[in-house]
Amino acid sequence: MILKIENLQKFYGTHQVLKDINLEVKQSEVVVILGPSGCGKSTLLRCINGLEEIKDGSIYIENEKITKDFKEWTKIRQKVGMVFQSYELFEHLSVKENICLGPLKVQKRKKDEILQEAKMWLEKVGLAHKIDAYPRQLSGGQKQRIAIVRSLCMNPKLMLFDEVTAALDPEIVREVLEVILNLAKEGMTMLIVTHEMGFAKAVADKIVFMDEGQIVETNTPKAFFENPHSKRAKKFLNLFDYHT
Ligand code: ADP
Ligand code: MG
Repeated sequence: MILKIENLQKFYGTHQVLKDINLEVKQSEVVVILGPSGCGKSTLLRCINGLEEIKDGSIYIENEKITKDFKEWTKIRQKVGMVFQSYELFEHLSVKENICLGPLKVQKRKKDEILQEAKMWLEKVGLAHKIDAYPRQLSGGQKQRIAIVRSLCMNPKLMLFDEVTAALDPEIVREVLEVILNLAKEGMTMLIVTHEMGFAKAVADKIVFMDEGQIVETNTPKAFFENPHSKRAKKFLNLFDYHT
């Protein structure tokens, strides 16, 4: 098991935003989280990466137990890569420098080794020729692919993706989703939040549907999209005109 969450509770003030979340992600498994806006998807991913304080419950990352007062997040964040909607590259650093920063400074790895890995990933996402470019010289889709490469070069055991295509123009959404589909084929373990239903169906081994801070349904993609067992999931799916 790469990730296991037990009875996770999260509050913002008195507002409970995550209610007794239980979730498991196995090695090489791709779990897609779906659910209406505000149901707690981002908060859940942020808790896994230590960006939010939890009230109660446990998170296990490769058998390392994390509870309320856990402090060693630097160690965990090297195992858990996260890519957000906004790419957050450093504008004053080149692609190469953006990618090498974490492995060099945090992981203290050798520059040659990191560069080799960076080139390998850049090749895979079709951006080898942009290694010396600056973020301002890249399109949104390219920046997002670089953000993914930057995260991959930390050699994470688990990747978290939070609506990574939400801010992109429709015609370039595909190029970013392709990268994630290829990662799935290569066996990367991933937890993905998306509103791209066709993509969710194609990439997921398991769909987790959330509503109002709770996991309402866990299902195979086929069963979820063809015949969800919860009423709330049916209602949610009716809002989408998805093609697969
Ligand atoms: P989703 O990603 O599913 O749209 P979020 O995890 O962003 O949902 O938000 C879950 C709930 O928590 C929402 O009601 C949202 O308004 C609230 N929330 C999110 N971030 C904060 C915050 N920093 N402070 C207070 N409330 C927040
Ligand atoms: Mg969100």
